[in-house]
Amino acid sequence: MLSSEETTYAIEVMGEMFPNATTSLTKTDPYHFMLSVILSAQTTDKAVNLVTPALFERYKDPVDLANASQAEVESYIKTIGLYRNKARFLIKCSQELVERFDGVVPKTRKELMSLSGVGRKTADVVLAECFGIPAFAVDTHVSRVAKRLGMVPADSDVLTIEKILMQKVPQDLWIKGHHRMIFWGRYQCMARNPKCSSCPLLDICPEGRSRV
Ligand code: SF4
Repeated sequence: MLSSEETTYAIEVMGEMFPNATTSLTKTDPYHFMLSVILSAQTTDKAVNLVTPALFERYKDPVDLANASQAEVESYIKTIGLYRNKARFLIKCSQELVERFDGVVPKTRKELMSLSGVGRKTADVVLAECFGIPAFAVDTHVSRVAKRLGMVPADSDVLTIEKILMQKVPQDLWIKGHHRMIFWGRYQCMARNPKCSSCPLLDICPEGRSRV
């Protein structure tokens, strides 16, 4: 297992390769950004960015969407996966936001996770991106990279990965670390063909050494 120092070192090296790693979702106000994150589950950020301009133009605030029809919302997002469930989540989440939070996106993980369609990862991303509150959101790339590098045990679940990374990495690197590990997973340590032979982390990576 990588130590705290080695884990932090790995994230610094990722930052040298991807100094501009950041969210690929179009940044908007917290409400619309939260909806974008909900929409991004099991689809690409690019696909989400294609549907959100028209969707957000039609539904400018939580009251608009709270009163929307399921069929009409679906018509705006039907090019992305799971659009029926997601349309339901967007409407329900907006209704709950209006009823319980005066239409304002809350700033705590617990409150965010009380909203329909908002799981821990979505809450962490919203906290980090909208409010700058340190969080280490774990998606499929972060999970794979953390396991391959031995930052976490191979059988760790998402919550365990998040907790270990938050223990090992200084808090001021949590948000950057999340973005860097996503870029690392997309462009260096891809699921199928990781570029191990040219990887600057090969020396400390058990998975890489077993592949090269
Ligand atoms: Fe990923 Fe290979 Fe680099 Fe390890 S050596 S981090 S498995 S690309």
